[in-house]
Amino acid sequence: MSNYKVSARKYRPQSFSEVTSQEFVTQTMKNAIISGKIAHSYLLSGPRGVGKTTIARIFAKALNCADLKNGEPCNKCNSCEEITNGIHPDVFELDAASNRGIDDVRAVQDAAKFFPIKGKFKFFIVDEVHMLTQQAFNALLKILEEPPSYLIFILATTNPEKIPATIVSRCQRFPLQRIKINEISAKVKEIAKEEKIKIDDESVFLIAKLGDGALRDALGVFDMAVSFCGDNIKYSELKSFLNIPDKDIYFDISGFIRVSDVKNILIYFNELEDKGFDLQTFFNGITEHFRDLLIVSTTSNPNLLDESDSFREKYSAESKNFTADQLQRLLKVLFEAENRFRYSSNQKILFEALLAELCTLNRDVKDLSDLISEVTSLKKKSLIQNDSELFIIENADFTPVNDIPVPSNEESFSGKNKLPDSEISHYNNGKPETHKAKIKTELEVKDKSDKTTVKETIIIEKLKELFDVVEYKTD
Ligand SMILES: [Zn+2]
Repeated sequence: MSNYKVSARKYRPQSFSEVTSQEFVTQTMKNAIISGKIAHSYLLSGPRGVGKTTIARIFAKALNCADLKNGEPCNKCNSCEEITNGIHPDVFELDAASNRGIDDVRAVQDAAKFFPIKGKFKFFIVDEVHMLTQQAFNALLKILEEPPSYLIFILATTNPEKIPATIVSRCQRFPLQRIKINEISAKVKEIAKEEKIKIDDESVFLIAKLGDGALRDALGVFDMAVSFCGDNIKYSELKSFLNIPDKDIYFDISGFIRVSDVKNILIYFNELEDKGFDLQTFFNGITEHFRDLLIVSTTSNPNLLDESDSFREKYSAESKNFTADQLQRLLKVLFEAENRFRYSSNQKILFEALLAELCTLNRDVKDLSDLISEVTSLKKKSLIQNDSELFIIENADFTPVNDIPVPSNEESFSGKNKLPDSEISHYNNGKPETHKAKIKTELEVKDKSDKTTVKETIIIEKLKELFDVVEYKTD
């Protein structure tokens, strides 16, 4: 392991075809090289670590290559090798973050006056170009207005909006994209194989996710993982090394929320808190967990998640325990708490209150669509039975109406449905009834005039209570 080289540098792409993602940019550049239609200035913009300077170097290499093949540099000729090693006399790299003044740009102006020493073109690759001072931008603009035929500027930036429009309008613009997690994980797997390092799928996904769209950052985490775990990277070791909450924790949390177990979710949270997890990471993890559940619940396609196969299966199973409406409500509460949480001086207490709220939310709010379908089916039933005699309702709760056995009039008073004598408190039209049933029957008879059953009334009352509204009456 002593000759281990930092992966991002060792595996830096040396040709357009090796660049991960960014096909739009690499293909357009290759076409320009093949057709010989070269501009004098290019602007590569995009998040950090997505390959801006890498692409700039490959472009410079291809244009000065002695043995160009289909728009790709040969990587064997003297010019290619010198550019790879950063010693080509006609390729200058400037970091505008540390060389941002007028003098630095004047030095570029002076250097630009001379013909290239070795190659056909002379390149200035300016990284983080938005950091230049206004004076420096003015000097740069002067060169861009009348560039000598051999001069090519490649400007790279993470903040294109900070570059003066006069500069931007003189450049060919290439916006680079964040790299997708599956592309980063494919690259991590490829490098692990090359380095003969065993790594499980969960670790690959964790590393790719931590890269947050930047391959360079992900490879940095990969190098850390190698230095800690050696040549066999296991998820269980890696997550404890990085002190990242295990994904399973989030399934436990949603389990508590599902059954509205406030007590145990708080005990569980305090145990986790003792392990010293960063609460912001934990908060983001819970939000992402419910977001993933919502994606699977609404699309039934777990492959849309940036997760390993084993976690995709878990998400598929867990999503069946929630309705999409429930998940949306939980996410809404989390999003509303996000800013409060970020700026809170006591994140722990806020977190506990939030977890309790999520549990209560799931208990109190019965799914609205269930209630509506319940009311509708009861209305239908009520209309059908309007003219026949009313039946006894023993279950005036919220179990779906299909689950309630509806005895026929004859059945109610004979055979298995016969009431035990001890429970009979009175007779209604010569039929035995319990005391409870008597009250209900009375209520039903009262409501029969407006075709509403007891159950329906209770549901409407519950709806009014839940949504804190006054019933709208048409008459
Ligand atoms: Zn070459």
